[in-house]
Amino acid sequence: MNFNLNKLLRENIKKLSPYSSARDEFSGEAKVFLDANENSLGSPLTKWYNRYPDPHQHAVKDAISKIKGIASEHIFLGNGSDECIDLLYRCFCEPKRDNVIICPPTYGMYEVSANVNDVEIRKAPLLEHFQLDLIHLENLVDANTKLIWICSPNNPTGNSLNREDIESVLNNFSGIVVIDEAYINFAKQKSFIQELTEYPNLVVMQTFSKAWGLAALRLGMAFASSEIISVMNKVKPPYNINQATQEFALKALEEVGQVNDMIKELVSMRDALMDVFEQIPIVEKVYPSDANFILVKIKDARKIYEYLLTKGIVVRDRSNVKLCDNCLRITIGTEQENTLLVDALAEYISQETT
Ligand SMILES: *Cc1c(COP(=O)(O)O)cnc(C)c1O
Repeated sequence: MNFNLNKLLRENIKKLSPYSSARDEFSGEAKVFLDANENSLGSPLTKWYNRYPDPHQHAVKDAISKIKGIASEHIFLGNGSDECIDLLYRCFCEPKRDNVIICPPTYGMYEVSANVNDVEIRKAPLLEHFQLDLIHLENLVDANTKLIWICSPNNPTGNSLNREDIESVLNNFSGIVVIDEAYINFAKQKSFIQELTEYPNLVVMQTFSKAWGLAALRLGMAFASSEIISVMNKVKPPYNINQATQEFALKALEEVGQVNDMIKELVSMRDALMDVFEQIPIVEKVYPSDANFILVKIKDARKIYEYLLTKGIVVRDRSNVKLCDNCLRITIGTEQENTLLVDALAEYISQETT
């Protein structure tokens, strides 16, 4: 594998001189800040928020760095993982020329973001057991293939992809391999973050939206070589992470223990719910899950989906997704919510059989 970051970058990004914000040009201690055209009188809020936030999110990155065991220069923060996804396209993929590979069924944003950026998507569908098709992947790669998207644990299937398969892609592909670990906290597999020293072509994405319970804050993380992180920083909007998000994230990062307790509880409820689903007669298959949701193949999935809606319960209908026919994706709820779901299904079955 012959990795050359400069060859992968778009010409315009290589040449880009980034916006230099007021906070960039002066970031030390001072008494009077008259450099950013903020409202010096304050704001209608008790806590003012009248000043621009730290464009580099130093405090949040320091806290993440301690928890993840990786230096801050390897961390990028985005307005959700969705911003990281879009930025990777804008840094590496020349519209109408370059292409990327995804492995469906998988997270929808890789394709939507490719379409927004006018970048060709190539598909190497997962094999049965939802594992990577390495031969198909290799055949799709050409000189203009910039990114390969790997989601592990995968959404919507819930399983982790084989580590050796991912390593094989990392070893053989000279473009960027993005591993989306949105659900890694619920998995038995360990993160690829510690492998960053070994693979200059690796980008790992994680998020505050799932295990951390902070989907509304919109905070996503990307981990990569300091060279890749620098490029992403150059392209991002200067103040992409707002002050309130930075403050809340910092608070949350002090409570790792509480988050770990929630993860344990969700995993145990997931395993219990999977056992219950195995016993439900109309359920044809409960797929293995390393995430905080399960994928179930069920008789008349669309009809069940509609029925559950009448009971006020919303699950994700994946029955029209290739390789997921008649499948529903179900997030692990609270104990009470899970019971409501199981009871609703029991009622459905009893109505069907009378
Ligand atoms: C939920 C999810 C995310 C999180 O996206 P955010 O923009 O950080 O909320 C990322 N990737 C996958 C596969 C997901 O399922």
